Amino acid sequence: MTQSTTPPAGMPEKIRHYIGGEFVDSVDGDEFDVLNPVTNEPYIKAASGKKADIEAAVAAAKQAFDEGPWPRMLPRERARILNKIADIVESRKDELAAMESFDSGLPITQAKGQAARAAENFRFFADLIVAQVDDAFKVPGRQANYVNRKPIGVAGLITPWNTPFMLESWKLGPAIATGNTVVLKPAEFTPLSASLWPGIFEEAGLPTGVFNMVNGFGEEGFAGDSLVKHPDVPLISFTGESKTGQTIFANAAPWLKGLSMELGGKSPAVVFADADIEAAVNATIFGVFSLNGERCTAGSRILVEQSIYDEFVERYAAQAGRVKVGLPSDPATEVAALVHPEHYEKVMSYVEIGKSEARLVAGGGRPEGFETGNFVQPTVFADVQPDARIFQEEIFGPVVAITPFSSDEEALELANNTKYGLAAYIWTSDLKRAHNFSQAVESGMVWLNSNNVRDLRTPFGGVKASGLGHEGGYRSIDFYTEQQSVHINLGEVHNPVFGKQ
Ligand code: NAD
Repeated sequence: MTQSTTPPAGMPEKIRHYIGGEFVDSVDGDEFDVLNPVTNEPYIKAASGKKADIEAAVAAAKQAFDEGPWPRMLPRERARILNKIADIVESRKDELAAMESFDSGLPITQAKGQAARAAENFRFFADLIVAQVDDAFKVPGRQANYVNRKPIGVAGLITPWNTPFMLESWKLGPAIATGNTVVLKPAEFTPLSASLWPGIFEEAGLPTGVFNMVNGFGEEGFAGDSLVKHPDVPLISFTGESKTGQTIFANAAPWLKGLSMELGGKSPAVVFADADIEAAVNATIFGVFSLNGERCTAGSRILVEQSIYDEFVERYAAQAGRVKVGLPSDPATEVAALVHPEHYEKVMSYVEIGKSEARLVAGGGRPEGFETGNFVQPTVFADVQPDARIFQEEIFGPVVAITPFSSDEEALELANNTKYGLAAYIWTSDLKRAHNFSQAVESGMVWLNSNNVRDLRTPFGGVKASGLGHEGGYRSIDFYTEQQSVHINLGEVHNPVFGKQ
């Protein structure tokens, strides 16, 4: 067995649901194979949840919400448990990262960074609920009003396979911090790291029934769809593809559920001639090739001012050619294996489409020495036209499209010329241009002369087909709570009186 096929320490025998404090199989006993992205061999079985499993999980979560201590605890008490969760995640960071890397194909060094971020998410929301201040208003001598913030109930959390553990923590942290109970439906390609949550929560003292998890697929009749359609789940926080978001939006409509949608992206990185070119090349390489290019905020379209275009493309292609492709478990690896053969086929089909649409300047195939598994060379296309599919469609792999522009107006037009609007990156030394461009670009987030670094207090979300609503900081607290206004009469009642005689 090579290093890449040896399962990491602490792996469960199989992946099961976790309902009301117990690991359980599916009611109908159904299971599916989870594949190792380096070999594409099945390495573990996972329970495949359906409607009956979701019903059991929602019932457990509802009971914990209606009768359990969690929603009624003081924020400080809940925060203590959240901080313990963070401590445990941190102390198990290496084990967690090893599982995540093995299961998803993420390079181990990057998986460790994601595990650390997961711990931070719990710590951050612990701090936030303790420091939470709610609004109060007064009309002197007449009336006082205050806002009563309440948890909503059972939150349904549906997550994708890229950085799965971190993205789960990003929803679990605020959902439980605010006193809700949850049913998590992890992505079917990558259920391994999520199987550690029950142990972590039990050790931290989270009351039984607050956290429940049902594994399996999302489509109609399966776990994800059943969770969205369950009448006792008033909230759905979803991260995934825009198309899936549309389906969930429609399926949740009959109940008018609270929805948060973090969807796909095709984000522009705009490099003006007055930018620090070396910094821009380094950042835009990292921006699209880190996390194997399976990053929602990847700057996968690079727009470059004509006067520096040729030099930029040359430097970029040369550096992309030096990005180290390797096994996920190798600490020196920068790009490893894509998550699943289905996704690999999709990315490779875009590489072929790109060859017919644009000029290939780096990569474009399977890297040497990796004859099996989901390995793709970091791939760069230049002279990409705005109507090309590789310009318009999310590829979600290590593939980037470079396009020239000749004026600020053209740069903006190109930047906004897709259905997506998640992130934008702008490289220029002209502050006025940077601000004006940020105002006009259609994206939920903008980074100026910066890589994708994010303070946890800032709102996160996209516009257009990239999402609906924002999470992050207080926006997460708002999403996971009801804000009830309470009006108190302090003086004379000034209401009109009907039917007095
Ligand atoms: P996906 O939409 O295929 O699946 C996401 C989750 O939804 C999975 O758990 C899946 O089982 C479930 N699902 C599928 N159909 C469903 C249905 N009808 N009802 C309920 N659940 C259903 O996405 P993916 O391929 O796992 O993830 C990649 C996508 O996620 C990319 O488009 C990427 O941009 C996006 N993403 C966005 C963000 C963000 O914050 N905006 C972050 C990470 C990933």
